[in-house]
Amino acid sequence: MPCAGALAAQPQVLRAAVLTSLAGTQEVTLPHVLGPADFAPEGSRVRYRLDFELPAAAVAAAEDEPLGVYVPKMSLAGRLMLNGERVGACDLGALEQLRCLHRPYLFVLPASQWRAGANTLEFEIFATSRQMNGLSSVSIGPARLFGDGPYGWRRFEQVTVANGLAWAAFCMGGIALCVSLALRGECLYGWFGATALAIALSNLNYTLTAPPVPPQFFSWFVFSVNQAMVPLLMLTVLSFFRRDWPWARRGLIAFMLLGPAVVWLSGSNRTVVALLYVPFVLFGPLLAVAAIRWAWRSHRKADLWMALSFFSVVAVSFIDWFRLTGRSAFEGTYFVTYVIPSTIVVMGGTLASQLATALKTARELTATLDKRVAERTEALTLANQRLEELSTTDSLTGLANRRHFDDILAKEWQRARRLRHPLALLMIDVDHFKQFNDTYGHLAGDDCLRQVAQILKQRLLRGSDTAARFGGEEFAVITSMDLEGALHIAELIRQDVENHPVSVDGVDAVHVSVSIGLSALVPDGSRSPAQLISLADEALYRAKRAGRNCVRAAAAQCVAA
Ligand code: GH3
Ligand code: MG
Ligand code: MG
Repeated sequence: MPCAGALAAQPQVLRAAVLTSLAGTQEVTLPHVLGPADFAPEGSRVRYRLDFELPAAAVAAAEDEPLGVYVPKMSLAGRLMLNGERVGACDLGALEQLRCLHRPYLFVLPASQWRAGANTLEFEIFATSRQMNGLSSVSIGPARLFGDGPYGWRRFEQVTVANGLAWAAFCMGGIALCVSLALRGECLYGWFGATALAIALSNLNYTLTAPPVPPQFFSWFVFSVNQAMVPLLMLTVLSFFRRDWPWARRGLIAFMLLGPAVVWLSGSNRTVVALLYVPFVLFGPLLAVAAIRWAWRSHRKADLWMALSFFSVVAVSFIDWFRLTGRSAFEGTYFVTYVIPSTIVVMGGTLASQLATALKTARELTATLDKRVAERTEALTLANQRLEELSTTDSLTGLANRRHFDDILAKEWQRARRLRHPLALLMIDVDHFKQFNDTYGHLAGDDCLRQVAQILKQRLLRGSDTAARFGGEEFAVITSMDLEGALHIAELIRQDVENHPVSVDGVDAVHVSVSIGLSALVPDGSRSPAQLISLADEALYRAKRAGRNCVRAAAAQCVAA
């Protein structure tokens, strides 16, 4: 019999119990797993009775330091009585409605309930055929020892961590489904999101003790989502490795729909549920090996993470599958509870990093594309400017060409008409140019035309004046001047040409002259630009006839050189 000091330092572990069930009354050793003969398939209560001695000193010490009863597991649902008095249950409510799976319990009872000497603990367990039922070993000792030790740790592991992982999977699932929607139903994220949600929901089996729905429906629901999770995970892996084989998809989806129906019809029978995993026990390892092979071949880190994650799921599923079939310890923890949601977090991270890489690449491509577009636009603008210049400029002289001359004349005509300003046109023709060509050659002739054009440009200081090559060795000047001003400027041009001999290769300088005919008028509705041209042309003709190297106006006098 343990003394008070021993109990204070070391909890007392109770392993002997008397079980009263449908099979009768018998002595059992804890932990104890109930057999099918102990309870009705639809569920019934059994009773474990544990007798133990408590030293008087321990009961006295309980005034200062409360004693606790630590129960690692009572399944499915349980209630505790000390010395005939009810002291607690695994949760609030009728035992038939509770699902107290995989979580530890610490009942802390006041000193008044303990007796010095003989005490009796009685556990009433509600057992159904939907899961493994029974009672773990029971420990009695100062509550503080349990809280800091086994109970605290086990609670952290089975409640806090399991809940946290379930929530992590839930969030990942939600995010993945949103991504799938945003990407217009992208299969990979859809399958992954559904898998993560199924995992989160299947963890309700461990995390919810008082389901809000009838127990048989709840059992069916958690078994079904658990069932659906496996094909969903396989679809995710196949989709990730771009192996969306239609036959595999059809088969897995059919199984996903069939599973819940079978589970329901069997009344969530554990054996049936275990048998439903058989196809996956066969195909899971095959897919895991194939995934590792695909990852090996692709040399992509993300592929390797995905393959290893799936491999670990298959490995722990194997371990737990044997456990579900009753081969492993009743008190042990189910690895899938931790490994599968953790795997989902790893897979989610892999998918997220893949998405981030794709986003980064897309951004870089967009930036490159933007840069290219900007470069091309600039080149195009320059080309357009050049084209514009080419289409309006005479290539030999750099002056406006004939087409541009026509446009400008039309515009200036309209402007002068609107403002009632005079408009003057000078027609300038190089004298005896044929002879010049014949003497010095056509290239020298071209040079001469360029130099005459240069003289014209220099003389036209006003921005509104335009000098153009009219054709051949003829030039035209449009200026908004009256006849007097035009005569003046024409005379200056004539003198400039006369006074600036053109340079010709092999010859120092050659004097050339121009004859200029001009017309000036205030445009009105009765006249047209063509008339202005023909008047200037006619004046030019008269200048030629007058002996060349002179200026003649259309209407009035000719100013001699
Ligand atoms: P006039 O004094 O009566 O104007 O006599 P002209 O010789 O200047 O007149 P004509 O119309 O007989 O000859 C014009 C010459 O101009 C003939 C043609 O070869 C030359 N010509 C026309 N365009 C160009 C050109 O772009 N380059 C060169 N080098 N010569 C040109
Ligand atoms: Mg001519
Ligand atoms: Mg000429």
